[in-house]
Amino acid sequence: MALRLFNTLTRRVEDFQPLDPAGRRVGLYCCGPTVYDLAHIGNFRTFVFADLVRRYLEFRGYTVTHVMNITDVEDKIIRRVRETGLSLKDYTRRYEEEFFRDFDALRCRRPHHTPHATEHIPEMLALIDRLMHRGIAYRAPDGSIYFSIEKYRGCGCCYGQLVNLDLQQLRPGERVSHDEYAKESVADFALWKARAPEDGEVFWPSPWGEGRPGWHIECSAMSMKWLGPAFDLHLGGEDLIFPHHEDEIAQSEGAAVQPPGQRFVKYWLHGAHLLVEGRKMSKSLGNFFTLRDLFQKGFNGREIRYLLLTAHYRETFNFTLDGLAGARTALSRLDECLGKLRELAGTQPAAPDDNLLQPFTRALDDDLNIAAAWGTVFEWVRECNRLIAARQMAPAQAAAALAAWEKVDEVLGVSAAAETAIPPEIMELAAARQAARKAKDFARADALRQELKTRGWLVEDTPKGPKLKPV
Ligand code: AMP
Ligand code: ZN
Repeated sequence: MALRLFNTLTRRVEDFQPLDPAGRRVGLYCCGPTVYDLAHIGNFRTFVFADLVRRYLEFRGYTVTHVMNITDVEDKIIRRVRETGLSLKDYTRRYEEEFFRDFDALRCRRPHHTPHATEHIPEMLALIDRLMHRGIAYRAPDGSIYFSIEKYRGCGCCYGQLVNLDLQQLRPGERVSHDEYAKESVADFALWKARAPEDGEVFWPSPWGEGRPGWHIECSAMSMKWLGPAFDLHLGGEDLIFPHHEDEIAQSEGAAVQPPGQRFVKYWLHGAHLLVEGRKMSKSLGNFFTLRDLFQKGFNGREIRYLLLTAHYRETFNFTLDGLAGARTALSRLDECLGKLRELAGTQPAAPDDNLLQPFTRALDDDLNIAAAWGTVFEWVRECNRLIAARQMAPAQAAAALAAWEKVDEVLGVSAAAETAIPPEIMELAAARQAARKAKDFARADALRQELKTRGWLVEDTPKGPKLKPV
């Protein structure tokens, strides 16, 4: 069965077929964080969703190029820069560092490219210039450059590909200068904003005078720079569908740089939002959580990742602290089962069996049905526990089950940190100690135990033989 994904562009679940004629390489762009504050767990739901898409594509054998931009200049950031008196770079650097600390704690695979908006101004200017030449962009009286929806439509292009828009209400030439606006305010939007006194030192030169880019042009320029003018997958939270993604399509397809017959993006995927205790997150409701708020409550990145990964990406997810406690219980069930399998399997290598892999793949092929995928994992845990308790699990079978888990965990990323590998010389010392014990040379056995300790390893004698643990 092919991987099937819900495409916001067609509002249908479709077979995933990459643009690469060889069917191997996949380009994936996910709108990244706006580094004006600490990211919250809602933002991270979207980034964990993007991580799932990327990991699952890799699991399915695709070679993914994953790009996630860093929005380091836009309206909200400029406001904060003005309030703090810091430079743009000093202000955004701190939040970017914090972002990646959390991103890593959630075990998200780092994207291959993380382009910064402020480092792509020439690409944005080139794109705006092209739109000017095509007559789709124009200069407003204040010197800003706007995208003309009327001219774009006049070229035979469609504005309103991702959402249904009532364009009867559209008054040609009406403009919106903010980066964020609602569907009701559909209007020509800013590509380049002329320098204003409140922008302080945040401006760049351009052929149309000093200014700064609009938010939407940033993602068009960066995605096409790193993935080409037509690529496979574009992701983000559902709030970005309009206007951000609609405007990205308009700018990128308005520039007409795609090969004939190809769209800017083939599949648009959007993650539904996260609520906290049933309500929209807000600082005033006291239900606004950053990752460090949750760390302070004693939870870790692994537990938060697990919880964020339990619900289907197109369903609104209700985040609760009880849910997080439940995540801890579920993970310890998993850990316990894996621990028993490891003990049984020893170190023998094995090929993964299909008991887990097949139903797991079937579930995720179906528009990333992660809830069903977890169902198969816990079904498998139950069955393994049953066989182990009944002494019906042979070591080779345990090894094959573990090998299957390792593959599945390439997608889920929730295994407890692997036990520290034991270096060969330590193994040799432990074996020599065991031999001395057998020969009843206890003085030598004790000396070897001491030697191991000074090298950082403790020996514990168990009914199943000696076990090594780091001090
Ligand atoms: P921002 O840093 O505001 O640009 O947002 C980064 C990402 O988080 C975007 O893809 C948003 O769509 C997403 N996002 C924002 N709020 C939420 C939420 N409550 N639940 C899920 N995703 C969100
Ligand atoms: Zn974007």
